[in-house]
Amino acid sequence: MTQSASNIVASLRSTFATGRTRSLDWRRSQLKALHNMLSEQEARFLEALWRDLRKSKQETAATELLMVKGEIAKLSKELTHLAAPTKPPKTFISRMDGLAIQPQPLGVALIIGAWNYPIQLVLLPLAGAIAAGNCAVVKPSEIAEASAALLAELLPKYLDQDCVRVVCGGVEETQQLLEQRFDTIFYTGSSRVARIVMAAASKHLTPVTLELGGKSPVYVSHGIDLELVSRRLAWGKFMNAGQTCIAPDYVLCPPDLMQPLADALAARVIEFFGENPRDSPDYGRIVSDRMFDRLSGLLSETKAKRVVGGDPDKAERFIPPTVFMDVKPDDALMREELFGPILPILPVRGGVDEAIELINAGEKPLALYAFTNDASVRRRFEDSTSSGALVFNDVVIHAGIDTLPFGGVGESGMGCYHGVYTFQAFSHRRSVLYKNASAISEAVNSRFRYPPYNESKLGW
Ligand code: NAD
Repeated sequence: MTQSASNIVASLRSTFATGRTRSLDWRRSQLKALHNMLSEQEARFLEALWRDLRKSKQETAATELLMVKGEIAKLSKELTHLAAPTKPPKTFISRMDGLAIQPQPLGVALIIGAWNYPIQLVLLPLAGAIAAGNCAVVKPSEIAEASAALLAELLPKYLDQDCVRVVCGGVEETQQLLEQRFDTIFYTGSSRVARIVMAAASKHLTPVTLELGGKSPVYVSHGIDLELVSRRLAWGKFMNAGQTCIAPDYVLCPPDLMQPLADALAARVIEFFGENPRDSPDYGRIVSDRMFDRLSGLLSETKAKRVVGGDPDKAERFIPPTVFMDVKPDDALMREELFGPILPILPVRGGVDEAIELINAGEKPLALYAFTNDASVRRRFEDSTSSGALVFNDVVIHAGIDTLPFGGVGESGMGCYHGVYTFQAFSHRRSVLYKNASAISEAVNSRFRYPPYNESKLGW
């Protein structure tokens, strides 16, 4: 960090105090500049993500660039309405007064991103911070090195540097930032680091949004087309080589569905990535040696039966799309969030009841998926489970629907964003009361409100 964290925050705070970021024109122009950056520099973003994660052009376009552009378009279109005060209904005691709820920027925001979607995870919240009228410090993940360097180069060229700053670095730099007083912290990453973030935030009573992960389960019931299930599952699991916070983590199904589902998944792997996924331009790589070692450790530790997948290759950080069946609940693959291209299938003899019992024995997941055409099975999931999102008959895709709040519950996070929820994550809703000061209103007040009290004043 060339400038100290405290100087950066102090200079942003003094810009915020001038009121520059409150102007809707400023917010619109910054959102437009962010959009322009993504369009004009598209080739460089595609290259950075290829270098960090070997993400294909299509994946980068859809899951990073278009996601952010969509958010910017939505926030820009709705800005006037989002930033305007709303009028709540009047109550009996406020019938002579005016009531409003005024959205206010919080001040200076800190946005800390993770490496798996290194552009989207910082720029989407940044669009919300700007739309809501805040200054912001962006701290990209140091693990996606090329993406972080590109953001550090481009954001100052496109955005108002008095209001938006990028700080690169790892644990030390992030901790220096966390010592400062921010008005909100938006963190994406592991629940282990989230605890560090929240502890630091508590010193200043700074509100936090925590976008975390966990094991997102899938249940497959009888009576559904397994080819459709396998196509949607393989797409959501193996995109970005499984390094997606809402990727299906494990599959539960009745024992007689396990083999046909495993076969269908193996067929989809070949259909999507060919006989040798290493050669597919659409299949990614593991982000770091540390993550590679963790995943190959799990592959050698598991006692389950491998259906598809081959040997990992450390030189390329390549782990093939891998499916295991007959996995036991106490297997190594069930210990922690897999966050890689490994999909275990577990048979549940007791059907949906046993599946729900197993899911509820773990932490509340970020996403819960159930493939079923049975309304009573759907109701069981709706009524008896809790998760950030509940999706029937698909995976991952809900993150692209910006009218749905995106976020976790319990160990998978707190707070939410996307669309208007991103604006709200960076806003304070201030209550404003315009009290009537007329003689009539005061006469009514005097009859009921002020001491000395007597029974008629209380209306008894
Ligand atoms: P990471 O290692 O990139 O860390 C995230 C951020 O925390 C980085 O900016 C990093 O610099 C910072 N950091 C790391 N250690 C720190 C420390 N000791 N003190 C202060 N800051 C520190 O990413 P990760 O933690 O490996 O992320 C993976 C997790 O994130 C998974 O659980 C995944 O499911 C989750 N995730 C969630 C979402 C979501 O939207 N809910 C999105 C992506 C990833």
